[in-house]
Amino acid sequence: MDSATPVRSVYVHAPFCVRRCQYCDFAVQVRKIGDLDGWAAALAGELGAIEREGVFPLASSLDTLYVGGGTPSLLGPGAMEMLARLLGRERLVDPALEWTAEANPESFSLEVASGWRAAGLNRVSLGVQSFSEPALRWMGRMHGPDGARQAVATARAAGIRNLSVDLIFALPEGIERSWTEDLDLALALEPPHVSLYGLTVESGTPLGKSVAEGRLATAPEERYREEFLEAAERLGAAGYLQYEVSNFALPGHDSRHNRVYWEGGAYLGLGNGAHSFTDPLRRWNVREWDDYARAAGAGALAVAGREEVGPDARRLERVWLGLRTDRGVPWAELTPGARRLAHEWEAAGLAAISPGSEPGALRLTREGWLLLDRLAVDLDAALGATVPRGDRAPTQV
Ligand code: SF4
Repeated sequence: MDSATPVRSVYVHAPFCVRRCQYCDFAVQVRKIGDLDGWAAALAGELGAIEREGVFPLASSLDTLYVGGGTPSLLGPGAMEMLARLLGRERLVDPALEWTAEANPESFSLEVASGWRAAGLNRVSLGVQSFSEPALRWMGRMHGPDGARQAVATARAAGIRNLSVDLIFALPEGIERSWTEDLDLALALEPPHVSLYGLTVESGTPLGKSVAEGRLATAPEERYREEFLEAAERLGAAGYLQYEVSNFALPGHDSRHNRVYWEGGAYLGLGNGAHSFTDPLRRWNVREWDDYARAAGAGALAVAGREEVGPDARRLERVWLGLRTDRGVPWAELTPGARRLAHEWEAAGLAAISPGSEPGALRLTREGWLLLDRLAVDLDAALGATVPRGDRAPTQV
């Protein structure tokens, strides 16, 4: 392993949320106010340990920095400046740096947005999810129907024009919400980037409990499909490119940080539950904030697990990650058996093939993306892999 490869992309987890949403399975610590000092002390300790270890050396200049959560905006206006000091201001001066933080409308004040912008942040991802009051209330979100519009205006007033809006589709049966209306309202805000999340039921969440006890029924498959396709068509017609199964961008506004994940690039994850990767090593931090803060605050690594990605797992990942983006899987990498399968998919409307053109590739259509997991496993099998189905990564549409 080349342990000295400099890492140019960093993810930082900000775990605090005012309360846990119905469906949330993230590494979250419920707090009314984010613990900025505790967060800074833990990150400083972890960064020191990472530096001494030398497996994930930070490059002298970063390409992407992504602060996710949790609710980073709960950490207030000084959070990004504090992060810049920890990571080294000199690493964050490249004009091409993409520096994103997630924010929830209710805690994204002009003071927060301006403080972040002054620190150098240039992209914000807003947790909108819906514009429907009953749907937001059911989810447990803290903002109201007008929260998204205000948050977008706040970002723009602070000079942050590179915005992403998150929307959730396929809500359970009986939740009052018009998906078409939500798409209208989201498009009216003209965000350069939109991410869609198909609601999935995780055991251990309040939603998982409600479903297990029969108090709530998940959306039928047909509605999942209809809402996904409606969004893709509407966004496509409005000029957005679906550059990944769940992500849409106006030209030039792809999330470069996410591209690093999908293309197998190296990245360092800091904070509780964060994952890091430098080929072939993947490792992840302890999930609970208190455990993480104790270890990292004492200057130790807070690693909970690690694995070396072997050739079979790497092939499956490459296929799965390639198929989920608009770049697809290079045609030159497909065996005769895989090419036969690709032609079957094309005939069924699940894929498009561009052999002969440069770069030739197999790409899924929207219908194909609805079957992403299954198609990735089938293509991998055709390529001769022997990876058991249980090793598949989870999908997110
Ligand atoms: S705001 Fe996001 S991270 Fe926090 S509880 Fe809700 S879904 Fe989870």
